[in-house]
Amino acid sequence: MTSPTSPPVLPVLPAADVDAIVDTLSGAGARLLVGSVIDMAGVARAKSVPIERAATFHRAGMGASPTWNVFCIDNAVAVTDRVTVVGDMRLRADLEAARPLDAGYVWAPTEMFDQQGDPWPGCARGRLRRVQAQAEERGLDVLVGNELEFVITGLVGTPLPREHWQAYGLGAMFAHEAFIADLEIALNAARLPIEQLHAEYADYQFEVSLAPTTPVQAADQVHLARLVIGRVARRHGLLVSFSPLPVAGGAGNGAHLHLSLSRAGVPLLSGADGAHGMTAEGAAALAGIVAGLPESVGVFAGSVLSEYRLLPGHWSGAFACWGLENRESAVRFCAATPGNPKGANIELKCVDPSGNPYLTAATMLGLALHGIDEHLPLPDETTSDPVRLSADVAAAAGVVRLADTQAAAVDLLRGSALTEGILGPDILSALLAVRTHEIDTYGRHSAEELTERFRFAWSS
Ligand code: GLU
Ligand code: MG
Repeated sequence: MTSPTSPPVLPVLPAADVDAIVDTLSGAGARLLVGSVIDMAGVARAKSVPIERAATFHRAGMGASPTWNVFCIDNAVAVTDRVTVVGDMRLRADLEAARPLDAGYVWAPTEMFDQQGDPWPGCARGRLRRVQAQAEERGLDVLVGNELEFVITGLVGTPLPREHWQAYGLGAMFAHEAFIADLEIALNAARLPIEQLHAEYADYQFEVSLAPTTPVQAADQVHLARLVIGRVARRHGLLVSFSPLPVAGGAGNGAHLHLSLSRAGVPLLSGADGAHGMTAEGAAALAGIVAGLPESVGVFAGSVLSEYRLLPGHWSGAFACWGLENRESAVRFCAATPGNPKGANIELKCVDPSGNPYLTAATMLGLALHGIDEHLPLPDETTSDPVRLSADVAAAAGVVRLADTQAAAVDLLRGSALTEGILGPDILSALLAVRTHEIDTYGRHSAEELTERFRFAWSS
């Protein structure tokens, strides 16, 4: 059995019936295929081809510089020993995952290959497929669910004038009902399975939660949902911010991840005699996530804006600990109850939208597999707000505050053999280069300057 730290055996794209897919898309009015990747900074970047060239986009791929992986949020290029201005990749569109949009557009996620058709080791999507395959080798079925929080602004990009926004307000939702109604139609047309849609806590903030599915498909759905939300908003004279901190002084945008595991249809997180019904393997998976968080938080919340969101009192999970329905611990355990018919799952709350959704899912799952492989013991449950624990109690329970600056998060990531094993050295070194550029260039800027400058960096 391969461990998360063994050398990569990267899978290739599924052998789809490409011509039939292209015919169907063309027949439905598709004119332009847009294929995108999400880079290490969490930014989606794209190429497009006329639909007649869709099969070529799938089979041969479109050229892109390897520097696509080290573009930064300000478009600087953070070259490394492994990624320089020399060389070329191919971005290949996964047409099995293509989704028609309106106005003649069709979108597909792409994956990075070299010109010989071999997988590119720095590809985030390819890496998630590999970690998913490692779970499957262990006989595990994995489901991932994503929550997308975002803030709408006017078309000029400045915050909308203050109104009496009520968190989760019925009035807040209906003040923007035409946008919400169109959003439901567009998400549905793109076959994105909406679980919930509501006005969130921060001014002009909404949340869409998507139903759980397999890890790569779940990350593709986040990738596409951000595009669909942005397109619908523009039609309503709005822009959408997925920044970890859209407006200085306000609440942040989270990108909470839910994970559940089962073997041959039997859940690992319920139905047994462990804590809250967990099996021994389920408890070890949860333990692996909690134990790995301090060193890997730079993957989940590593941008220059993340530290302004990952704060106690923000429901963003600033402490490495876990608790049943505990919204201040980084890991909230959701037990199987009649009120939770989808079943028990582990929610990771410290994740924000500046993290690449393929890498956040790969890291969360990789940490869970590590916990299972190493039979890690479940730490004490945190049954209250962790910020209120005395230093002694926190220390005894192993509760630690996650890195409170980007520099500290990146330092811990740099030293993390565990994360390097999960993501591989190509991805980790690119991620570190991009995030180090952010620290060096913007580390001294105020939250006000940063929110203004990067409000739309993660928007599509
Ligand atoms: N907006 C919060 C965050 O930054 C999350 C609020 C919630 O729990 O839904 O993660
Ligand atoms: Mg929320």
